[in-house]
Amino acid sequence: MELDHPGDHLGADRRGHSLRANADGRSSSTGRIHCSGAHPAHPLERRHPPRCLMPVVRHHFRCLDCGAETAASLELACGECGGLFEVAYPRLPEGGLRLPLTALPLGQGGTPTISFDWPDARRLRLELKLEYLSPSGSFKDRGAATLISAAWSGGATAFVEDSSGNAGASLAAYGAAAQMSAEIFVPADAPQSKQAQITAVGGRLHPIDGDREAVAAAADQYAREQGIPYLSHNRSPYFSEGMKPAAEEIAEHGLPDAIVLPVGNGSLLIGLQRGFEELAQLGRIERMPRLYAIQAMNVSPLASAFRNHESGEPTPTVADGIAVSQPPRLAQMLAAVRESGGAAAVVSEAEIRSAWTTIARRGLYVEPTSAVPLAALRRLVERGMLADDERVLVPLTGSGLKSPPIR
Ligand SMILES: [Zn+2]
Repeated sequence: MELDHPGDHLGADRRGHSLRANADGRSSSTGRIHCSGAHPAHPLERRHPPRCLMPVVRHHFRCLDCGAETAASLELACGECGGLFEVAYPRLPEGGLRLPLTALPLGQGGTPTISFDWPDARRLRLELKLEYLSPSGSFKDRGAATLISAAWSGGATAFVEDSSGNAGASLAAYGAAAQMSAEIFVPADAPQSKQAQITAVGGRLHPIDGDREAVAAAADQYAREQGIPYLSHNRSPYFSEGMKPAAEEIAEHGLPDAIVLPVGNGSLLIGLQRGFEELAQLGRIERMPRLYAIQAMNVSPLASAFRNHESGEPTPTVADGIAVSQPPRLAQMLAAVRESGGAAAVVSEAEIRSAWTTIARRGLYVEPTSAVPLAALRRLVERGMLADDERVLVPLTGSGLKSPPIR
């Protein structure tokens, strides 16, 4: 499905589709392109499948492997080489970060940041960004808003997605906002609370026995058989693109020296790196924070790649949100870590449990995945990766209400 139907303008496409200005024939000064088609102002107000979405910022896709450029679409892979895409823009915007489109505000983003005294690393100036205070209870809402907006703008009335839980719940929620049917494939052993959340917002659950890759394959096959777009938030470039405003919020709060975050499929890692890069191009920041990607020792493909090691066989982890053994964007994740001057590291199950207990006893009830970066702080200091007096930010990515308590 391509996103260039009449009345929708994703622009900058090489095939010469014209970019229309808004209804009175003028482009807005922000570089945003306004639709001239008749439509309700907001998806929550409409009664029929959408034909266009506003505002849309001119963008296209670029293949990460061969560099081929193509019109924006819901395609997941380059027609030339099979590589994954990134979102590209014809020019720098005036002022703010570039986002292709976001028309489904349920209240994502703008999460608070608090100072926190972590017992294992007291000299760090630690800040926690409470990303779990988002409508569906996880940071995924940032990416879901952008990805579902893209599908919605393409006229999709249904979509297929696969998720370990949080992304599925978020995409189903934004699908509900857009009145789209959400077919969500999850591992059968995904936390019941996440599965219940998907169903509550109207998503149709497809529990699959097997690992994360088996779930993705089942979703892909179902989408082909049913003729429904498979959005694949881990492969579509729209999802991580939607994470960029987190970088802007972090910079506005005061740029940290380093950010330590849990990493599974890497959407937040990639989105932060792209966001900071763009802020640097805009002259709004003078340096990039170092990005430290932390994984559970039991499932650690990025940390293995960072050390040029073969990744071991994955084994179960309490950090279900990052239990991803074959992330499709591994090369991009590795580049994001290296280009920032950061590193990738692992923590044990015992360390995750201990960190989770510590933060819970301090009043913040997050899911085990969110304790992963906290569990790494002491070792990062001991290894000299974080200096004692540095300003370090940890995003707390998911609510504790979404996972069973761990002991
Ligand atoms: Zn390619």
